[in-house]
Amino acid sequence: MHQKRFAKGVYSFLPYLIEVFESHAVRHHAKWYRKFDYEPDSVGREENLEILLIDIFAMLLLTMPVWGTLMWFNPWGGIIFISVFFMHRFLWNTIHRQMHIPEDVIFRNWGAYRFLARHHFLHHQNARKNFNVVFPFTDILFGSVGVAQLKDVREMLRLGHILPRSVRTQRRLDRLGFPVLGANH
Ligand SMILES: [Zn+2]
Ligand SMILES: [Zn+2]
Repeated sequence: MHQKRFAKGVYSFLPYLIEVFESHAVRHHAKWYRKFDYEPDSVGREENLEILLIDIFAMLLLTMPVWGTLMWFNPWGGIIFISVFFMHRFLWNTIHRQMHIPEDVIFRNWGAYRFLARHHFLHHQNARKNFNVVFPFTDILFGSVGVAQLKDVREMLRLGHILPRSVRTQRRLDRLGFPVLGANH
């Protein structure tokens, strides 16, 4: 989604992919969501917040040789491959929306969710790192894991994606003037 040079040939055949690229990499985290959990613009708020069904069908069209071959040898292999796209879309849409428009959902304090939220928060700070919202291990695999700076830690404390380990730590942070909203969520 970010490496425009990567498949220039493909992009020229599919202007649609350029639109996806721009809606995400150019607008979602360059223009909109300067503040990770709030976007005042009503258009910007929704743009690229969710993966659309049409995106999934486009991806399935592009990867047809893969799942088509799989399907030929083992129908279950093909079905699982296709299901992963839909499952990924469901997870992506659910957690990405929650990260940017927080609501009182059941998983908001789950460790796994906060881990993914920190991962994606750092992607918004540096678009060359932490590409994957749902499967962060791919960033470990490709060596694209982002490192938090002090200002990021401060903001993640405010967002509640980092929780102080103890009341003492929280008091210390209070004294330092670090807002820790997460602890009260
Ligand atoms: Zn991105
Ligand atoms: Zn985002």
